[in-house]
Amino acid sequence: MRQIAIYGKGGIGKSTTSQNIAAALTEMNKKLMIVGCDPKADSTRLILHGHVRQTVLDTMREKDEDEVELGDFLYTGFHDIKAVESGGPEPGVGCAGRGIVTAINLLENLGAYSPDLDYVLYDVLGDVVCGGFAMPIREGKAKEIYIVCSGEMMSLYAANNICRGIRRYAESGKTKLGGIICNSRMVDSERELVTEFAQKLNTQLIYFIPRDNIVQRAELRRQTVLEYAPDSKQADEYRALALAIDTNEGFSVPTPVSNEELEELLLKYVPVAE
Ligand code: ADP
Ligand code: MG
Repeated sequence: MRQIAIYGKGGIGKSTTSQNIAAALTEMNKKLMIVGCDPKADSTRLILHGHVRQTVLDTMREKDEDEVELGDFLYTGFHDIKAVESGGPEPGVGCAGRGIVTAINLLENLGAYSPDLDYVLYDVLGDVVCGGFAMPIREGKAKEIYIVCSGEMMSLYAANNICRGIRRYAESGKTKLGGIICNSRMVDSERELVTEFAQKLNTQLIYFIPRDNIVQRAELRRQTVLEYAPDSKQADEYRALALAIDTNEGFSVPTPVSNEELEELLLKYVPVAE
């Protein structure tokens, strides 16, 4: 079973990308579970064709721990993909990261990591890797990490910060960075910029996903692109990304850069003003 954590700045496309990867992997006869580690609880919406009825934290608010069953929060969606959302605390109360710890412990105790699973994908919120948000990569759970970013400055900042966080866990454990997924925002020289960024971080650009409005059309119908438009070019992009992950052999301990170095890199690819 390969356990993979997907990190990246909020809104960069983690949930969209991970669900499309999941759908593509099922076409390769892989069995999967997605664990949403974001209080927004929308990591599985396209796989389940709507939001989960109950998150792990919802369940924990309603039941005693010894009464909780997997069926309270584990759902099955497109192509039999299993889906769980850790959920969030009530706004203003408690720590969202703690929900992830609770969720993963419960999944383990209740036997959700069944031996037939080929992949478990953790879709993890955030610009920082701390507390509960580091849980999927602590204690050797997810051994592979992918970071989603674009050529936009803030998403590169976040990716670099995430590398700072994961370096600790990568050095002490078996967790490694498998690469950067560029989810294009149509920035100037984006592919070249993110390729060089990845090299500086001692990793690789594993795939460049084009921006395409078909993603929004599918999202409105609560579907992955693979389900909504299986013959589209964008569906093939996600298939190629899934294959790149399935066959990936390039794992490393990331080497984050200084903020100055990052800004220099960005300037190198900015076109000269007219
Ligand atoms: P995150 O999970 O990182 O917060 P989402 O996956 O929810 O981000 O994506 C944010 C928005 O970006 C969504 O509305 C989604 O449809 C859109 N999006 C993601 N990837 C693409 C893409 N390749 N082309 C067009 N739109 C995209
Ligand atoms: Mg998300």
